[in-house]
Amino acid sequence: MSGRSFPGWTGPPPAGVVVDLDDTIYPQATYLRGAVSEVGRAAQAAGLDGEAVCRALRSEIHAGSDRNGTIDRALARCAVPPDQAAKITPVLVRAFVGYRPERLPLYEDAGAALAALRTRYPLACLTDGNPVIQRAKLAATGIVDAVDLVVITDELGGRARRKPHPAGLLRIADRFGVRAEDLVVIGDRPSKDIAAAVAVGARSIRVGTGEYAAAGDLPPATVSVPNLVTAASLLCSLVQGPEVRRAPAPQSAR
Ligand SMILES: [Mg+2]
Repeated sequence: MSGRSFPGWTGPPPAGVVVDLDDTIYPQATYLRGAVSEVGRAAQAAGLDGEAVCRALRSEIHAGSDRNGTIDRALARCAVPPDQAAKITPVLVRAFVGYRPERLPLYEDAGAALAALRTRYPLACLTDGNPVIQRAKLAATGIVDAVDLVVITDELGGRARRKPHPAGLLRIADRFGVRAEDLVVIGDRPSKDIAAAVAVGARSIRVGTGEYAAAGDLPPATVSVPNLVTAASLLCSLVQGPEVRRAPAPQSAR
């Protein structure tokens, strides 16, 4: 697929490929924009200034989109009295969690990159987060149909199983009938995706897309590339064609 070389990449082709979802396959900012608007509408309906709540929420998300208590802090920023905030927060959380985008566009050519990978390797998507939200994103991106297996870490035992916990990769290795250290992980976050790969002794490819593109390289990935398309080029160049693909195990986690 590609004649380029990738310094630092050595060893045989992986036995399976694991791809992160948010900011690796599609830009999560698109989802967050829609979810924030949904919260703004709910806030307006509850008698608050919906625009002000949206602005406050955007600021909180900008400081880190996966922190707890984002909506509480946004209401505090809007000087909503604590007793009123206590009543409204659950309503706004429901609006956020209940947001169902019809479609979330992938990064350019990401769909073709996944399709190319899937002709050569068992392909899984490993993602963290509230399963209701992650399922909505999976549906809107069409990823459920683009991979052999989807694993949402929270469904393996709650937040404690989120990356860098190795549980997700171990589950995928088990379903694919391969060793976890023979997988390769493609992801955007060193402290999650790359660290999870390190935890099982697997190789990793960091992509420089999304919210964490400027984060430090800790732990370092096996190689870093600009995006998923380049990562797929690297992996596809390791094997001649579809005939080497191994059949994945049953997809009971989809
Ligand atoms: Mg990510």
